[in-house]
Amino acid sequence: MKYCTRCILPQTHETVQFDEQGVCNICRQAEKKQHEVDWEARGKMLEKILAKYRNKGEYDCIIPFSGGKDSAFQLWYAVKKLNLKPLVVRYNHWGFRPIVYKNCDKVFKKLGVDVLEFQSNWKVVKALMLQSLIDTGDFCWHCHTGVFANTMRIAVRFNIPLVIWGESPAEYRAYTSFDELEELNNNSFNEMINLGINADDMYKKFKGKISKRDLLTFEFPSEEELKKLDAKSIWLGNYIKWDTKENVELIKRELGWEGAPVEGIPPEYDYEKIECRWQGIRDWCKYIKRGHGRTNHLCCIDIRAGRMKREDALKLAEKYDGKRPASLDLFLEMLGLTEDEFIDILQKNQVEDWGFDREHMVKGEELPDMKEWSKVF
Ligand SMILES: [Zn+2]
Repeated sequence: MKYCTRCILPQTHETVQFDEQGVCNICRQAEKKQHEVDWEARGKMLEKILAKYRNKGEYDCIIPFSGGKDSAFQLWYAVKKLNLKPLVVRYNHWGFRPIVYKNCDKVFKKLGVDVLEFQSNWKVVKALMLQSLIDTGDFCWHCHTGVFANTMRIAVRFNIPLVIWGESPAEYRAYTSFDELEELNNNSFNEMINLGINADDMYKKFKGKISKRDLLTFEFPSEEELKKLDAKSIWLGNYIKWDTKENVELIKRELGWEGAPVEGIPPEYDYEKIECRWQGIRDWCKYIKRGHGRTNHLCCIDIRAGRMKREDALKLAEKYDGKRPASLDLFLEMLGLTEDEFIDILQKNQVEDWGFDREHMVKGEELPDMKEWSKVF
């Protein structure tokens, strides 16, 4: 496999391209973020947007909130730095770990905010997980679409035009760049988020076994609805210079936010993706399909930020990526699959130039909170 000569991203990564020096387009975007974007001017642009929406209704904006590091920072920034009154909107995907509730308790109390949580029908979610796994090798369709579509639906219902998301999508994938000031709309939802499957496609797949109205949660509001609302759905990371490590230090210090171990991730990255119990499996799926996991991703970020040497990154990714997560047994029991069936599905979605070796899998360690996870399926 070919790798970026600066970071350790392989050719199998989504949207990756290499230039004549062998440097990937994501590294080039990061250079732009560090040296070319005028962040002071971006801050002023943000203020101009906020001026239009502040104090106009019951809430100034919606902050979508999982409870992970990014949303905790986003909410802190909105309340403390931007002086906004947000409605915190949570899509509960049924995977939250115990640490998430502990962090929410602290963050919501310390910041003083109204919170709205929406959790969709488990039977529907379970069916969607299996269907999207079979079709795309990604079982999180309900979560991708639930987080983004449902939040925008709530924006429409509560008449809150401004929605502020976190980290810019330009950080990791080249669907957009920092120049574009990407906003969330029907097009970007279909291009970046819903895996090419909208709620109507999903309805057809189930041939009437799931009703249309049970899938509405996952349907993005129409262009007419969003136009009528005068919706503006932006990424904070396009207006402020986002630095994950600094943000994590801040939320730990200011809000008492706590990290936790995650499967397949070195302990020093205790802040990464702690919110979902199936994260380790999701990352392992990517490893089976594309040959790299989350440690690779984290190391790439640190290389681009000048915090890690390439050779150390390669060693760390080698050590942590690709281990069979201990949570897989529970996951397979939940979806009613055998391990071979599961790997078969993923290997059907394997990209060229990569071959997953199922004969030599190394088992990962069990997470300390796994004993507390629900076994009601
Ligand atoms: Zn690179």
